[in-house]
Amino acid sequence: MMLKEIKKDLYSSQTTLVAVSKTRSQQQILELYDLGQRDFGENRVPELVEKYEALPEDIKWHAIGSLQTNKIKYIAPFISLIHSVDSYRLLYKINREALKNDRTIDVLLQIKIGMEEAKQGFKMDELKKLLKKEKSFEAFANVNIVGLMGMASFTNDKEQITAEFKSLKTYFDLCQKEFFNAKSFNTLSMGMSGDYKIAVSQGSTMVRIGSLLFS
Ligand SMILES: *Cc1c(COP(=O)(O)O)cnc(C)c1O
Repeated sequence: MMLKEIKKDLYSSQTTLVAVSKTRSQQQILELYDLGQRDFGENRVPELVEKYEALPEDIKWHAIGSLQTNKIKYIAPFISLIHSVDSYRLLYKINREALKNDRTIDVLLQIKIGMEEAKQGFKMDELKKLLKKEKSFEAFANVNIVGLMGMASFTNDKEQITAEFKSLKTYFDLCQKEFFNAKSFNTLSMGMSGDYKIAVSQGSTMVRIGSLLFS
C-alpha cells in the first residue's frame, strides 16, 4: 500500500501529507479516508465543492491550484487551507469572503521557485518589498498567513530541484524571522510525487502527493 510507504517516509519529520485527489472519484477518496487520511487537495473549485458536499465532514480540504477571485465565495465557508495565494488582490478577496462567513481562513503565499515561465507565485524580492510596505498584511484580520508554498521545476535534475527547495526554505526562515509570528507562520508546503523525498530533506512540513498515492 503506497499510503503506508509514503507515511513512513514522512514519519520522522512529522511532515503532513495532503492527498491530491483532483480527478479522482469519491470512492477513491473514501478508500484513503478509511485508512485514516483526512487532508485532501483539489485544484478546481467546482470539483472541490462537489466533493466537500458529498464526503465526510471531518475531511480537511486544501485548495492547491490557481484561484480566480470570483470563485473564492464558494469555498470560503469550509476551506481548511489555501496554498496558492499569489497576489495581494487575491488575499484581499479571501479576507472579504472570510469575514462574510465569520471565520478566519489559513493561507500560504505561493512563491515562484521553478524555472518555467508559467509557474505562478510571488517572486521572492517582490514579496519582500510588499511585506515591508504592507507590514505583514496586518490589515487582513480574517486571513492567517501560516506559511509558504512552492513547486520545483519539472525536471529530472535532482541538484536543480534540491537547490530550488533549499532557496525556498531559506526564504521561509527569513520571512518567519522578519515579518511573521513564528508560532503561527509554521507551514512550508513543498514536494509532490516525484520530488517529495528531496523536499522533506530540505525542510518541507507539508507535501502534496497525487499520482503516486492513487496509482
Ligand atoms: C497536481 C498537483 C500536485 C500533485 O502532483 P503529483 O505529481 O500527482 O503528486 C501537487 N501540487 C499541485 C499544486 C498540483 O496541482
